[in-house]
Amino acid sequence: MYDVIVIGGGPGGYVAAIRLSQLGKKVALIEKNHLGGTCTNVGCIPTKALLTASHLYTDIISKSKKFGIKVENISYELSDMMKHMNKSVTMSRKGIEYLMKKNNIDVYNGTGIIEDNTHVKIKETSEILEGEYLILAHGSVPSIFPPFNEIEGIWTSDDVFKMSELPDSIVIIGGGVIGVEFATFFASLGKEVHVVELADHILPFEDEDIALEIKKSLVKKGVKVYEKTKVKDVNESYVVIAESENGEIELSANRVLLAVGRRPNIPEDVKNLGVKIERGIVTDNTMKTNIDNIYAIGDIRAKIMLAHVAMFEGIVAAHNIAGEKLEMDYNAVPSIIFSNPEVASTGLKEKDLDPDKIIVGKFPVSANGRARTMEEREGFAKVIADKETKKVLGFAVVSPSATDMIMEGVLAVKHGLTVEEISNSIHPHPTLTETILGAFEDAEGLALHI
Ligand code: NAD
Repeated sequence: MYDVIVIGGGPGGYVAAIRLSQLGKKVALIEKNHLGGTCTNVGCIPTKALLTASHLYTDIISKSKKFGIKVENISYELSDMMKHMNKSVTMSRKGIEYLMKKNNIDVYNGTGIIEDNTHVKIKETSEILEGEYLILAHGSVPSIFPPFNEIEGIWTSDDVFKMSELPDSIVIIGGGVIGVEFATFFASLGKEVHVVELADHILPFEDEDIALEIKKSLVKKGVKVYEKTKVKDVNESYVVIAESENGEIELSANRVLLAVGRRPNIPEDVKNLGVKIERGIVTDNTMKTNIDNIYAIGDIRAKIMLAHVAMFEGIVAAHNIAGEKLEMDYNAVPSIIFSNPEVASTGLKEKDLDPDKIIVGKFPVSANGRARTMEEREGFAKVIADKETKKVLGFAVVSPSATDMIMEGVLAVKHGLTVEEISNSIHPHPTLTETILGAFEDAEGLALHI
């Protein structure tokens, strides 16, 4: 008899299992594939491995001469990039395997089929596990629907990681996070890339100025971006027909990548349980479903599909199951995109706020001394604060290392810090974080370096 059975070994599930074990619970974790789930195996880790390689390749081409470094015959080998990617994935996976052992978590390699509220069968072995609590952490799969699933060889993000050669040209349907990251990768390696986005601009969940900065950087790499354009059809020869404001367009490429979102993985046994389902499994802020001993975390909830959110939801579920009260706070979730330059944002967006009730401060990367030494000039930092209280409501940054720099904004939003509290904190010089400082100073009308 287990205290808790966790179904799904992705970032949500394995983190919940560790925390439960730390809190003295006896835990079983069931995973039908590899530990680490989408993020480790076909998401965060492999994309970042590939993007690190392609960023380095562009840096060598664009900067080495300026830095006085002689590099001759620059070229790349996809198979070696994939080796680096596979090694990064394997090492991360092995790290999780080690953590499971260290924390005495029983890992079952198989498909967990829920029999009732307290029993789960391992499909492959027919073994039945009993647990006082269940955590549903089944994750998500890429959305694919007609006509795309009817045509042989249309890629989703999962397929990119299996490629044995790079396509010379690619149409990416969807200019969201996955679309932008893969457009950056293929374009950096000199491939012809078309990105088709339905909404008014790529990265529609970000403010327009952020999206525009990324669009400019993609266009500079040669990417063709089609916004307000809806894909209507695609044929066997990968000719994509799309409808734009200016009429129908036809794009043809060696490959088509569909990146229009992910859908929660809710199998029949979960549907039959009686848990409330809307688009995903519904929970309260303690991650509890409508059934007292059943919790749900991560992408299966179909809310914010990010590994770091799933991890924190796992922590919250674990503490509540262990009898401690802890609630999710979604006000300061960092969103990060590994484009080149990178993008990161948190808190409220300017587009969702009344312009009369906020102050906005901005500072460009081009005025940052450290960026100059790195031959970087694209991007800016932006802070949005309440006009009356000066509390930070939202923060965004487009810059090299934006995905690391975002934590200052996360802390400001989460803890309701004021603009002054950040600008009165000494920032190290010369660093990229001074771009952030500049934005906060600008919000007070006191920017020093512009
Ligand atoms: P997404 O929701 O980020 O973007 C999908 C995009 O497709 C949207 O911009 C949407 O407007 C567009 N779209 C939808 N239908 C379309 C159509 N018919 N024609 C053209 N455009 C269309 O989804 P995604 O990029 O597939 O990513 C899936 C999930 O994975 C997201 O939740 C994302 O946050 C997560 N993810 C995160 C990271 C990261 O944190 N760095 C990286 C990759 C994926």
